[in-house]
Amino acid sequence: MDFLNQRYIPMSRRRRIYEGKAKVLYEGPEPGTLIQHFKDDATAFNAKKHDVIDGKGVLNNRISEYIFSRLNDIGVPTHFIRRLNMREQLIREVEIIPLEIVVRNVAAGSISTRLGIEEGTPLPRSIIEFYYKNDALNDPMVSEEHITAFGWATTQEIDDIIALAIRVNDFLSGLFLGAGIRLVDFKMECGRLWENDMMRIVVADEISPDSCRLWDMKSNDKMDKDRFRRDMGGLVEAYSEVARRLGILMENDPTQGKGPVLVK
Ligand code: C5P
Repeated sequence: MDFLNQRYIPMSRRRRIYEGKAKVLYEGPEPGTLIQHFKDDATAFNAKKHDVIDGKGVLNNRISEYIFSRLNDIGVPTHFIRRLNMREQLIREVEIIPLEIVVRNVAAGSISTRLGIEEGTPLPRSIIEFYYKNDALNDPMVSEEHITAFGWATTQEIDDIIALAIRVNDFLSGLFLGAGIRLVDFKMECGRLWENDMMRIVVADEISPDSCRLWDMKSNDKMDKDRFRRDMGGLVEAYSEVARRLGILMENDPTQGKGPVLVK
């Protein structure tokens, strides 16, 4: 398939496949592909809290592109093909497994509330949790027993998902450590990718400061969506700083407003 030689489809004529809280999926230029569009919408607490934050979609598109490209580079299979423009990326169409896979290295958020562990306490080892993706039920936490009994994934698929989650966590922890950032926890999603009669599990959706907890190594400052959830402000500045530290060039950076500088 030649993804470079794609047909141009005007945005207005594209078929919308799915609209989520922060992203829209459109039909892609080739069979088996989709276009993932990042919106500026920010939601929390199952969309009870909602705002539009200028520039967030652009930043998440770039940061998620960078992370998925590095994962592809080290042989972790993902749905990502390439970025198309400031807000969109070309991805492979997968059958999303209805689970949110959360990996935790340090206690924060719901594990702190649920188990009474002070935020910031390092966990004795990385912990993997599964949540059933269902807005009407508020994405309840589920066990492997639930997952296999209700047919959301098989035992073999759960093993593959856990192996992927461990690799992604190890890789991302190192990547962020090099940027002076602690990876406290993150959420990932997986999908089934069919190639002829073969199926494999790949990392899907996005990995960005919307779906990770990222703390500055020295100050413990939050550089993630908790800034929105906890009304702290400075979200775009924090996401831009994550991008800057990862070495992602932000041409047309929405927060900078600077054009090219003329060298005299
Ligand atoms: O809220 P909780 O502590 O369970 O979140 C764990 C991690 O999963 C956080 O990094 C959070 O941003 C992410 N998450 C997410 N989408 C959800 C729930 C959690 O990205 N629906």
